[in-house]
Amino acid sequence: MTYPIVELGDVTKTYGDVAALRDADLVVERGELLAVVGPSGSGKSTLLNIMGTLDRPTSGTVGIDGHDVARLSDRELSALRARTIGFVFQQFHLARGVPALDSVADGLLYSGRPRSERRRLAQRALVRVGLGHRLGHEPHQLSGGEKQRVALARAVVGDPPLLLADEPTGALDSRSGAVVMALLRELNRAGTTVVVITHDRDIAAFLPREVRVRDGRIEHDAPVLHEGARA
Ligand code: ADP
Ligand code: MG
Repeated sequence: MTYPIVELGDVTKTYGDVAALRDADLVVERGELLAVVGPSGSGKSTLLNIMGTLDRPTSGTVGIDGHDVARLSDRELSALRARTIGFVFQQFHLARGVPALDSVADGLLYSGRPRSERRRLAQRALVRVGLGHRLGHEPHQLSGGEKQRVALARAVVGDPPLLLADEPTGALDSRSGAVVMALLRELNRAGTTVVVITHDRDIAAFLPREVRVRDGRIEHDAPVLHEGARA
């Protein structure tokens, strides 16, 4: 029996009297590439944080790779997250003064792999995102697009089956954004399930499935027809 990589059942998340997410049902199968779109404040990041097990829901069920998140201790949940999910955020979250190779290798700190192997895998991940010539560069020596590619390499260095990206192109010019989107597609083609939050309708139009969120509700969830046909 294989389980969906993500399965949300009737998930609600409230902050005080704000319902950031209401009655959300969402199933993401392995190998999918989907966009989550919606206006600012509609609940996209809340949805992603719950899928990423960074937040627990107020009510409802969250299944990740067949595990009921509510039944796991914080420690078990951290372990599940570490082996299953990679994250990319709008602000790259790279530590100041840390060379790219070390930033990416740190993504494997809790993997139990020896340092030499962590560095070898980190180098391979950086080559994969086209930064094999920037291994020793620190964040301040990299462009925004390059920083996001380092963050992407760090997210996938452990080869997680699920990659969650919250507005990964939001801080980039359109050309760097296109490079990052192309890399996400490439990772997806190689087998990673990818969920991308974006407020850019043009990006969403090129992804095979679109989930639209409004006022904390999933108001639309459907395949995008003629994928790639729209310019
Ligand atoms: P989006 O990512 O679509 O912009 P969010 O999921 O960040 O939306 O936020 C949805 C709603 O929940 C907003 O009204 C936001 O102010 C509120 N919210 C999100 N996170 C918190 C929090 N930690 N504490 C209080 N309110 C929050
Ligand atoms: Mg957000």
